[in-house]
Amino acid sequence: MEKLWKKNFISIEPYTAGEQPKSDDIIKLNANENPYPPAPGVLDAIAGTRGDSMRMYPSMDAMPLKQEMAAHLPSLYGVELRPENIFIGNGSDDVLATAFRAFFNSDKPILFPDVTYSFYPVWCELLKIPFETPAVDADFGINVKDYAKPNGGVVIPNPNAPTSIGRGLDFIRELLELNRDCIVIIDEAYIDFGGESALPLLSEYENLLITQTYSKSRSMAGMRIGMAYGSEELIQMMYAVKDSYNSYPLDNVAIAAGIASLQDEEYFRDSLAKVIATRDRTAAALRELGFTVADSSTNFLFAEHDKLTAQEIFAHLRERGIYVRYWNKPKIGNRLRITIGTDEQMDKMLEAIKEMV
Ligand code: PMP
Repeated sequence: MEKLWKKNFISIEPYTAGEQPKSDDIIKLNANENPYPPAPGVLDAIAGTRGDSMRMYPSMDAMPLKQEMAAHLPSLYGVELRPENIFIGNGSDDVLATAFRAFFNSDKPILFPDVTYSFYPVWCELLKIPFETPAVDADFGINVKDYAKPNGGVVIPNPNAPTSIGRGLDFIRELLELNRDCIVIIDEAYIDFGGESALPLLSEYENLLITQTYSKSRSMAGMRIGMAYGSEELIQMMYAVKDSYNSYPLDNVAIAAGIASLQDEEYFRDSLAKVIATRDRTAAALRELGFTVADSSTNFLFAEHDKLTAQEIFAHLRERGIYVRYWNKPKIGNRLRITIGTDEQMDKMLEAIKEMV
């Protein structure tokens, strides 16, 4: 018999994240995770969690963490913001989904590049947001003039993913000048690995929203902490959406862990410097082996070999327990996205590629 209730199911193709293999022997360079542990104080904060933090609900807006963030923004990014300018959610995916829901309610399409974070079109399908995807150029560059047309909003990751390419504040400023009548979201998931944050522009543009995450530079992907910075009005709007479906996205353990991470700026800077040094060394080694590698401002490399296909390198590495990311998609189908691991892991990857070239 036909099951009529199935007719009411949503029709949606979900986002596919990098594979999370079960074995510990895998060298996992496929999800842009940080190879180093979070600051030691983070684990102490988690271990020090008391019964009350389980028994009782957390702060609805993670206020203690917002206060700590506000206190560290001057030394981290040279800007002063108040907790009222900060929204905190369950990873920046949750924060971005909340922003899409709050701000993209126009009949006009929102705009984001055709090569970018593949979650954006998924949220558009889910939330019935029309969208257009201006094409990046042959070098994966975003042309700001493509964002000069009427639209319902703009989303650009800076640096972009999976291309790893970062743009300076002049580019972001031009984008904002062209888009004074819609919300512009700059997704700064990878900003700490050498990009230029747009945070100083918040004081000039009330329609700018910037998202960041603890998942990459703070080695805390498993804890799920993400944030947005913006004018008080934008942040209030996002809380109105959040409070319409989930009162307590961040638990008390995550709040304590997030505070501890902020309190150790020296560890933060040291582990970033290590990732950046390994990245630059690996990019040079790949170029020696015949790869074209985009100049990366992130913790990953976007690379294409001049003779071998991405698919065959991907399969060869995988057989040796080394997982990188490869998409069988137009424009990027011959590129690999390789997350920066430890020096030892990158050496093993380079050795495995040398067997092929
Ligand atoms: N934005 C971009 C560009 C990303 O690559 C990712 C990671 N997949 C995210 C946002 C979301 O990261 P998270 O939810 O872990 O903060």
